[in-house]
Amino acid sequence: MNILNNAEKRTYGAIVIGSGMAGGWAAKEFCDKGIKTLVLERGRKVTHNEDYPTTLLSPWEMEHRGQLTKQEIDENPIISKCYAFREDAKHFFVKDAEHPYIQDKPFDWIRGYQTGGKSLLWARQTQRWSQLDFDGPARDGFAVPWPITYKEIDPWYSYVEHFAGISGNKDGLDSLPDGDFLPPMELTCVEKHFQKEMKRLYADRHVIIGRCAHLTEPRDIHIQQGRGTCLGRNLCQRGCPYGGYFSANSSTLPWAAKTGNMTLRTDSVVHSIIYDEQKQKAVGVRVVDAHTKEMVEYYAKVIFVTAAAINTNLILLNSKSSRFPNGLGNDSGLLGTHVAFHNYRASLSAEYEGYLDYKTAGGRPNSGYIPRFRNLYKQETNFLRGYAAGMSGGRGTHSDQSSVGESLKNSLLNPKWSNWYAGSHMMGETIPKESNKVTLDATKKDAWGMPLLHMDVSYDNNDDLMVKDFIDQFTEMYEKAGFKNIKTRDSHAPAGLDIHEMGGVRMGSDPKTSLLNKWNQMHHVKNVFVTDGACMTSTSTQNPSLTYMAFTARAVDYAVKEMKKGNL
Ligand SMILES: Cc1cc2nc3c(=O)[nH]c(=O)nc-3n(C[C@H](O)[C@H](O)[C@H](O)COP(=O)(O)OP(=O)(O)OC[C@H]3O[C@@H](n4cnc5c(N)ncnc54)[C@H](O)[C@@H]3O)c2cc1C
Ligand code: SF4
Repeated sequence: MNILNNAEKRTYGAIVIGSGMAGGWAAKEFCDKGIKTLVLERGRKVTHNEDYPTTLLSPWEMEHRGQLTKQEIDENPIISKCYAFREDAKHFFVKDAEHPYIQDKPFDWIRGYQTGGKSLLWARQTQRWSQLDFDGPARDGFAVPWPITYKEIDPWYSYVEHFAGISGNKDGLDSLPDGDFLPPMELTCVEKHFQKEMKRLYADRHVIIGRCAHLTEPRDIHIQQGRGTCLGRNLCQRGCPYGGYFSANSSTLPWAAKTGNMTLRTDSVVHSIIYDEQKQKAVGVRVVDAHTKEMVEYYAKVIFVTAAAINTNLILLNSKSSRFPNGLGNDSGLLGTHVAFHNYRASLSAEYEGYLDYKTAGGRPNSGYIPRFRNLYKQETNFLRGYAAGMSGGRGTHSDQSSVGESLKNSLLNPKWSNWYAGSHMMGETIPKESNKVTLDATKKDAWGMPLLHMDVSYDNNDDLMVKDFIDQFTEMYEKAGFKNIKTRDSHAPAGLDIHEMGGVRMGSDPKTSLLNKWNQMHHVKNVFVTDGACMTSTSTQNPSLTYMAFTARAVDYAVKEMKKGNL
């Protein structure tokens, strides 16, 4: 181990671990507030536009027309289950063999190790939580109460929405508060039909256009970021040349860089956080160079851990000292427990025989959304909590490809329009449980000297009951709305494919039952903050990233105020 000299040169105001969705926001906020910030990213450098090699390719310009080879699928049984792992975006995903973990129970862990993390790859759905979501654990008694209220996070949602650019409609629903929206995208005619029928048939079920991080009408703040209008190419996972969708690469990181306060160090695997027993605080981090494997230390007054939920757990569990032998800040022994996720197992497809004089054109990078309606105000089913759902209806073409030569050419040039199809997929809340946990292997290490992670996380009976209810309710809803050929599916996939891992370092008011306080600050190590999914006390049903962004901006604001008061 070679500890380099010049500690002063390796000292910053703040260190941010991970440059993805949450880390990008931490970097931007610290830099905007004049704090010299070191962003440590374990993956390679991916610069907006310069490093999007497939962004302008047509299908015939790709060796396999956008598909994966059989060999790639065989070599990547986990990651190839993810719909976005395709020829055009595969370079942004961690391959199964590169970063192994131990599945005590099967868990599909989908990762993106590069500048921007998974913010390059996400589906950009962005819904706020409501007070009903924050009330969940206290009302139903399945986790510790949240230490914050919707009212406290509301201005921070607006703050991040304004900068990121969120398109949406003001729907006025209790379950899904409206935000600071750019103009909404449009539902297709079959989605509007479903919307109308749901309104007619049910008082509590709403079909709305998804709220998503796309610039439908850029504001001055987006032009300043160098971003432009989304043109509906729907090829976002390749990286968007126009910056039409929000990613750390297109938005927060270049903004932070422009301040002159950010140092981004890629290929830097954070091994652990250094705790100083005398000062009783964290003083820096140990970093393994991804290529040379040399270890270097960096120092700062405040450290933000935003390495994506499971990796944040790994880094904290690996940060052992005599004060914290079981991981940083882990007096409660709960670090790594209560890991939760979303239940995306169930889906439904259907056909609609009308509207044949309408077609779709272009690509809309969005879909309809049905906010949660089960157990919203009170317990009314045989399972706890509820689910939201996606809803999309479109119309495709098909060509008879059974012939050859001239006849095949004519058939391909004159495709026939099919009926309208529609579908929904479930987005269920799962219950954080102490038994759903991640731990470190005692002996096995990865190529960078980090202990291998044991993943002991799975679905339970509550999830099975919820899947059944989704299938029953949505079959009834589609039937009543006149859809035909309804097919339902429980994928029985292992946990993880929702790519919304949460928990392990949960927030709460009581240090005996939680790791972080209401400011995302470690109860026992005041200058360490966790603002990615690891902080989540419960999961609700909404896609989580908008909430991580809001928590991060709010926590940086607090941390900088505390630094100025000399408290950190
Ligand atoms: C296909 C897909 C679709 C999705 N759709 C949605 C959606 O519609 N809406 C939504 O809200 N969310 C969605 N998500 C999830 C979303 O991408 C994540 O919630 C979000 O990126 C999490 O932010 P993060 O900062 O915690 O992690 P990331 O964005 O993954 O960033 C973490 C970064 O930390 C780095 N890192 C990890 N360990 C270390 C270490 N030891 N040292 C240094 N750096 C480290 C990683 O390399 C990575 O760059 C989707 C994800 C995928 C893949
Ligand atoms: S849909 Fe919009 S954001 Fe996505 S790649 Fe196309 S222009 Fe860019």
